[in-house]
Amino acid sequence: MLERASAAGKVDLEACESALRPLTLAAGAKSLGVLLESVGKGRRDEETVCECGTRMESQGLRSKELLTILGPVTYTRSMFRCPSCGATRFPGDEELDIVGTSRSPGLRRMMARAGSRTTFKEACGDLEVYAGLTVSPKDVERVAEKIGEDLEAWSARERKDYLREDRPVPLKKILPILYIAYDGTGVPMTPWELVGRKGKQADGSAKTREAKLGCVFTQTTLDEKGRPVRDPDSTSFVGQIESAEDFGWRIYAEAVRRGLESAREVVILGDGAEWIRGIAEMHFHCATQIVDLYHAREHVSNLCKLLFAPNEKQIERKRQKWWKHLDDGDVEKILREAAKLLPEDSSQMKSARKELAYLDKNKERMRYAQFRSRGFFVGSGVVEAGCKSIVGLRLKRSGMEWSLRGANSILALRCATFSGILEDYWESRAA
Ligand SMILES: [Zn+2]
Repeated sequence: MLERASAAGKVDLEACESALRPLTLAAGAKSLGVLLESVGKGRRDEETVCECGTRMESQGLRSKELLTILGPVTYTRSMFRCPSCGATRFPGDEELDIVGTSRSPGLRRMMARAGSRTTFKEACGDLEVYAGLTVSPKDVERVAEKIGEDLEAWSARERKDYLREDRPVPLKKILPILYIAYDGTGVPMTPWELVGRKGKQADGSAKTREAKLGCVFTQTTLDEKGRPVRDPDSTSFVGQIESAEDFGWRIYAEAVRRGLESAREVVILGDGAEWIRGIAEMHFHCATQIVDLYHAREHVSNLCKLLFAPNEKQIERKRQKWWKHLDDGDVEKILREAAKLLPEDSSQMKSARKELAYLDKNKERMRYAQFRSRGFFVGSGVVEAGCKSIVGLRLKRSGMEWSLRGANSILALRCATFSGILEDYWESRAA
């Protein structure tokens, strides 16, 4: 091809680079094959012992086709079998981190990354175009799920270490303000994951399960207008579909990892839902709790509609006025005024009382004037954006239905990616 090009005196660059890539990869695969010839066979210094404690016996060589980022490589290594329980081991596979898989670590890493970013089908297309690798969507799904699961198991061990204080948190400079924000968002699930679950469908059934997403970030400065500024690259995320209790420990451990102990101020941002308050009270009882201002406004708007419909002018006038009280942090003023204006219709009254109860229960979390004077964020936009970008863009695309295992694996991968800790995980594997 090169000769033809030079004879023609004209080079079709794209044709050449496309034709050369597979040749180059094949040459690399060949070298890799040579390199692997010395791994996993021949005399071993230590004996191979079964999990049951018995000394295993060599069964001679076995080959498997290993798929790598350079293409397929045939790998031959010794197999050992346990004479008492029949289990087998391939020490070579253990050395190369390919136990029970025919895909190399480099390839698995690429597949997990691709499959966590977009649909498994699109991921295959990306791998083909970017790396010249042919894999199936099912392959990508399996590999991404397995790695997501291993990653979650690894981070569970890390959490335990932090919580037992076995792992000293590297001493950071004092953090002026540490924010912890969390929220829930529905993930569409396959029907069998929803059997017996109550939901928001008309017939009371559920189509989704709630993924809980939390983020931790820090703030050191205010801008020239006195508004808080989030420290660049300071946001990390955790998220899973799990109970509020389990999630509470997850977000708490994340806060510890991020320097909870060295924070001068800790602020919890949320939408005022019961599980959010519950976690705050259990794990962060010294923190300042703030209900997202926009949620609070929404509740005040709803209240105005319930009290003054169908008088649009009145609704608008009261909304402006009460939003002002809200900004001042004077929820009591709204409660006093509204209590005198309850609608006569009993179902309207019930709904209005519900809104009043929400405001009353959360009033200490709505002292916005005071929060602003202390330079705090009063909106939970960061975690809401996280719900969209981490959960929504990958897990809530139209027509998707997830298994719990699949959704949680992908969530683990995406949170780790967005938090910049995926590299730590790969390093821990290599160690
Ligand atoms: Zn055994």
